[in-house]
Amino acid sequence: MDIHQKVETLEKAAVLDCEGPPRMTRAERKAQFIEHSRVTVTHPQRGKIPVMRTMQTSACEKNCHYCPFQAGRNYQRVTLKPEELASAFDQMQQKKLVDGLFLSSGIIGGGVKAMDKMLDTVDIIRRQYQYAGYIHLKIMPGAETTQIEQAMRLADRLSINLEGANEQRLPLLAPKKDFSQELLPPVYWVHHRRASLEPWVRPPSVTTQFVVGPANETDQELLTTANQLYREAGLARAYYSAFSPIRGTTFEDKRKTDPLREHRLYQADWLLRFYDFTLDDLPFDARGHLTLNRDPKLVWAETHLHQPLEINRATRTELLRIPGVGPKTADAIMTARRTGPLRDTQQLKKLGVQVDRAAPFILMSGRQPSYQLRLLDT
Ligand code: SF4
Repeated sequence: MDIHQKVETLEKAAVLDCEGPPRMTRAERKAQFIEHSRVTVTHPQRGKIPVMRTMQTSACEKNCHYCPFQAGRNYQRVTLKPEELASAFDQMQQKKLVDGLFLSSGIIGGGVKAMDKMLDTVDIIRRQYQYAGYIHLKIMPGAETTQIEQAMRLADRLSINLEGANEQRLPLLAPKKDFSQELLPPVYWVHHRRASLEPWVRPPSVTTQFVVGPANETDQELLTTANQLYREAGLARAYYSAFSPIRGTTFEDKRKTDPLREHRLYQADWLLRFYDFTLDDLPFDARGHLTLNRDPKLVWAETHLHQPLEINRATRTELLRIPGVGPKTADAIMTARRTGPLRDTQQLKKLGVQVDRAAPFILMSGRQPSYQLRLLDT
């Protein structure tokens, strides 16, 4: 297997959608490699960018039940040396196929060893190939603090994936990972280390990911942990990944999680991060779940906004509670009404308000605007 085939196999593996080696010609495999190499991720400042998303190795000694690389699964394993992977990335970057790297890895010989290989790869990319662009590095479970410190120097973004909502749920998904000893401490450690850096040093942001569904966790459990990390550990973002079973894994017979659940979790997460909602504001049902068929902000408004809010007098916090009004539109409303009261829905539309969603909950100079009912349940 040459270097391009190796990288291709790992690249396909890294997007977690492969079920085994496909029967393709070498040219087809190369074409797919290029296509897959253009995975798009959201850069903290630059928005969507094409990156090479790959793994150092797809061999793994852990047995996370949902993962295509779990130990013992019949799957073609590939391992790249740091210099091989760095060189492949440089070639793709020189051809302008990608402008960034997202590097993950399976674990053989412990998290420290796996992390060392990844750090060596990124170090070559930074020093030898002088690449100054975007690098997202996954922190391996069990990585040492000196390694995390090095990762902070080399990468723009780190991911420390908790996978489970808490220490009770994680063993149901990944019995060989330790939530409170192995996964959670690095999130806090990076936060504290960040605070001690000089002001001109821009440290990497930290994200995490949860596997949603197979551990029977509630939405409340997931959002409680995410909210805690946003408030206490400066977490930049939590990703909620609706579980989908993969053939040959322990969880192959588990039910697929409804993607709508993932969508509702993201909506609620945005309310916590950008809309001044607290965890107690979120409309969980008695089982601790969000309603699947209703936007959580709309559910909150229907149960709390019994009197419409006067759009010309509402505070920013109140404006953010109105469906169809986001942080930017709340600011635009506050700026616009300084020059005179807002009186008609055309003015609101120009400011970016989704008028049909907002109208049932607002007054404009004492009058309720007309609206259509059809959009209220999204
Ligand atoms: S540690 Fe778990 S999630 Fe990561 S590659 Fe190995 S089996 Fe998969």
